[in-house]
Amino acid sequence: MIAWIALALVSFLCTADASSAPPNIILIFADDMGYGDLGSYGHPTSHTPNLDAMAARGLRFTNFYTTGAVCSPSRASLLTGRFQTRSGVYPGVFYPSSVGGLPLSEVTIAEILQTRGYATAMVGKWHLGLGLNGTFLPTRQGFQHFLGVPYSHDQGPCGNLICFPPNITCVGTCDLGETLLPVFIDEKILQQPVDFTMLVRMYERFCQGFIEEAVSEKRPFFLYYASHHTHYPQFASSRYAGRSIRGKYGDALLEMDGTVGELLQTVQKLGILNNTLFIFTSDNGPETMRKERGGSSGLLKCGKSTTYEGGLREPAIMYWEGKIKTGVTSEMSSTLDLLPTIAALTGANLPNVTLDGYDLSQVLLNGEKSPRNTFYYYPPSVDTNKGIYALRMGKYKAHFYTQGAFHSETTPDPDCHVTAPLTEHNPPLLFDLDKDPAENYNLLKPFIPKDLEPILTEILNERDRFQTNMQYAPSETNKGKDSSLKPCCNPQCTPKPSCCHC
Ligand code: MG
Repeated sequence: MIAWIALALVSFLCTADASSAPPNIILIFADDMGYGDLGSYGHPTSHTPNLDAMAARGLRFTNFYTTGAVCSPSRASLLTGRFQTRSGVYPGVFYPSSVGGLPLSEVTIAEILQTRGYATAMVGKWHLGLGLNGTFLPTRQGFQHFLGVPYSHDQGPCGNLICFPPNITCVGTCDLGETLLPVFIDEKILQQPVDFTMLVRMYERFCQGFIEEAVSEKRPFFLYYASHHTHYPQFASSRYAGRSIRGKYGDALLEMDGTVGELLQTVQKLGILNNTLFIFTSDNGPETMRKERGGSSGLLKCGKSTTYEGGLREPAIMYWEGKIKTGVTSEMSSTLDLLPTIAALTGANLPNVTLDGYDLSQVLLNGEKSPRNTFYYYPPSVDTNKGIYALRMGKYKAHFYTQGAFHSETTPDPDCHVTAPLTEHNPPLLFDLDKDPAENYNLLKPFIPKDLEPILTEILNERDRFQTNMQYAPSETNKGKDSSLKPCCNPQCTPKPSCCHC
């Protein structure tokens, strides 16, 4: 870590001005990591030196939102700049045998950058569909290269889900009756089942090769690295296993942070640090049902699968040596804003579709105010009749519906648990998130104060406007399953799935 920081300044001073060249983009996406999981976000025992150093030299966001409290919808919005409801990636997530996927008509960040001449690659967890003959793989969505798993690494049989050291099975439910977990290279299976002890190292080498090749070809590049960490079940290679005082979760986090360090060093060594934008965030809040093996939303309420702050507010760090306004910002921002921001920074054209994101480039480069003043919270189980469960306008957040979730079990707050039923609130619950980010004090109880009536009216009007204008695409996750779609490296073998072993 120290090496890249020390050399960063030298790199900045010595490298020829590349300001006219479009920047390289490295987008790192963690999985099920909560707002409170990084050292730089206050966790007392997480060891994340590379991410923390990147935060110190870049911009750290404290009001950054993802759109989905589970994996697939969140990833759809990240790559398209649109709510998952517009692409049909709802309710819930994709499975290995899912018929649907992110529609190919959707335009991704990779696609807008590809038309700008970028080299593009996706590494890690995709989770936006597989489909017949790989119809929905990253290679069909603007990524020239793909190395990774098409879905979550818990979507396999129990025996496949071993933590380090091998032969120690993971704790908790995991057998979803799926096939052995495959690693794909482009559209072919490279390995099945995955060797978790070598997986991240393989990813790192691939990323390094991809970046080196793009630089040697003098092409800007877009690398989307979607880590399996820190989704359950936790794993780490021998370089990291047992090294964290935070246990299995801490080891997985340490390995992910190590990859961030490797990427930083690669970029630094190639002399492109001052023309590379790093973006780091996570797809959804922590899976607290895994107890100490799950993440933490810190001071925020509940976690994964809920529309409380812990479900959707995430750590987010952006780093661009010598270019970005450094520090901490509480400006409201979202994964939805990444596509328009990247388009502005690279000169790429915006797709000709309804976007839900804003261009944050002036927040990054000049410390200006965010153009975003509202955020809309969809639950994982989107119901088009109910629409959003909550809406944030400025510092105020109104909950129209609340519901606990299985994924947010085990914390002391009963509102988070699966036993907390779907409840409609009329008038809504209203919180001042600047003064009360933990959503403890409902401002409309026991009565609606006169001075809050105007903002309440404004919020309700905005809810109506948003709901009226939302065009829901047909659900892709409800298109059903077909077991013949389960990937197998040896398609003619029997008995499946155990024979899919290469
Ligand atoms: Mg996730």
